[in-house]
Amino acid sequence: MTAALRLKPKNRAAALLAHAREHRYAIGAFNAVNLETAEAIVQAAELENAPVILQVSENAARYAGLEHLTAVCQSLREHASIPVILHFDHAETLESALTAVALGYDMVMLEGGDLDLDGNAKRLKLLSKTAHALGVAVEGEFEVTQKGEREATHLSASALEDFMKVSGVDAVAVDIGTSHKQTEKTAMLNIPHLRDLAHQTAAPLVLHGSSGATPEDLRIAIHEGISKVNVATELMLEFTRGVREQLSDPKLYDARKYLGYAREVMTQRVRTLIQNFGSSGQVL
Ligand SMILES: [Zn+2]
Repeated sequence: MTAALRLKPKNRAAALLAHAREHRYAIGAFNAVNLETAEAIVQAAELENAPVILQVSENAARYAGLEHLTAVCQSLREHASIPVILHFDHAETLESALTAVALGYDMVMLEGGDLDLDGNAKRLKLLSKTAHALGVAVEGEFEVTQKGEREATHLSASALEDFMKVSGVDAVAVDIGTSHKQTEKTAMLNIPHLRDLAHQTAAPLVLHGSSGATPEDLRIAIHEGISKVNVATELMLEFTRGVREQLSDPKLYDARKYLGYAREVMTQRVRTLIQNFGSSGQVL
């Protein structure tokens, strides 16, 4: 057994998220798509002395190359002064989720929208068994957070308790009114539904599509049981704003100038989000 394996605490991701739920803060789960965005996320967390979830989605892996982007994130995790949970987000198949486990991710989310709830829970059980044996946490998708304009797809909260028992997952994604890829903060959160869900399980609840929610609403949701807040679109907007600002100078040609500036701009935004989620200074 290598030193790295021997030292890896058992399911550290689950322990960190359980602490967040218990103490009513959330760990920010920020999406990295390249070197600069991954660096911005880890640097912001270090400046805030906060645990952080560095996320690679299956989509981002397709863009940057799964092995390459994973290696960048693993290197940042190893050298960070704060706990970095490396999370594989939105795995579309059991096979890709298991690949992420094998690659050394600390946590994996497997989508469930292609199956009914029972089938979803049973497939997650297969993943949980393998992942847990290797100290890897699993996020299941109880309710699907849609893309773009949406219709409510809430399930009965009472089904959650059974779903958690059968699936064995460590954290669970719920739908409380947000959508993926929202560029405006217009989401109306369904807090009563969140309360019902939180009543069914002590497990950390996960919010997808949080870019569409206001900071105030996010704080309420965190207080009611959301312990992992996924942020992608808002950071993409910020990073791109930084690039655009720099590229207004037609003489600029050095990619390090505008990418470095965008990285700095994104770092500041991640810090603000971490502060709002209440995870600053929460390094255990
Ligand atoms: Zn998502």
